[in-house]
Amino acid sequence: MKSPHSRPGPTLHTPIHRRRTRCVVDIFAGTAKIAHRCSLLGLPSESWEIARGDHQDVLLAENSRRIRLQIEKHRAGLVWFALPCQTWSRARRGGRTGPPPLRNKEFIMGRPPECLSDKDQNKVYYGNKLFHWTMSVIRHCMRHGVPFILENPRTSMVWDTPAMQKLFRNPLCSRTNLDFCQFHVPWKKATSLLSFNVPSVGRLHKQCTYRGPCTWSGVPHVVLTGTDEHGVFWTSRASPYPDLFAAKSAQVIYDTITGSKAERAARAAQVTRA
Ligand SMILES: [Zn+2]
Repeated sequence: MKSPHSRPGPTLHTPIHRRRTRCVVDIFAGTAKIAHRCSLLGLPSESWEIARGDHQDVLLAENSRRIRLQIEKHRAGLVWFALPCQTWSRARRGGRTGPPPLRNKEFIMGRPPECLSDKDQNKVYYGNKLFHWTMSVIRHCMRHGVPFILENPRTSMVWDTPAMQKLFRNPLCSRTNLDFCQFHVPWKKATSLLSFNVPSVGRLHKQCTYRGPCTWSGVPHVVLTGTDEHGVFWTSRASPYPDLFAAKSAQVIYDTITGSKAERAARAAQVTRA
């Protein structure tokens, strides 16, 4: 529930077994499964989700400053961005009945104002604002050597922006493809991660087959259109991360922050290659 009068700042997820270690910053956290799972492993975590109230708006100067400070003081061990993907979706194709596309290959940062309603122009404006903020925090992470992971649907147009394309060419960044069905949910939901300085992120690379029944469930994937038997939209049911994905991601984050021997060796090898 929104609480507009709360003071700016994140929700803190205090670990049961407190370790003297750097924290996880879960941004655009939704149900904060990443922060929660990390805290269960003993990592102090904080999550930011504007749906809880405007006090968690990362665009607020005070909040943005806090996040940047966590990074430059190396209090943050890893930053996770689940960048809101609505305006980057390819699902809006226009046609006779559907809503018109907000972006396309030619106008990746938004189609010209004359092609969009005022409401859609506002959506693109806000989507771009979050994108530019995220890119600036990503650059801050890279400047200070703080690992990050950014998650978005594989078909999201965010991957086509020149800024993302540039990151893909950076030898310390990598792109990992995965399908959520492989983390035990009935929908496929093809997803990609862009990561920096996270050598074990490849452990999350689990994909289903391109055609045919799901290799995990053995039956066709649930298509995320319309509602389930309780009238709940499939898209909103599929919005939180699968529990297993959050758990496996938390393990990758734990290894990245606490730096197991193998992890340190892999990172050193990466830096040498770069
Ligand atoms: Zn599958």
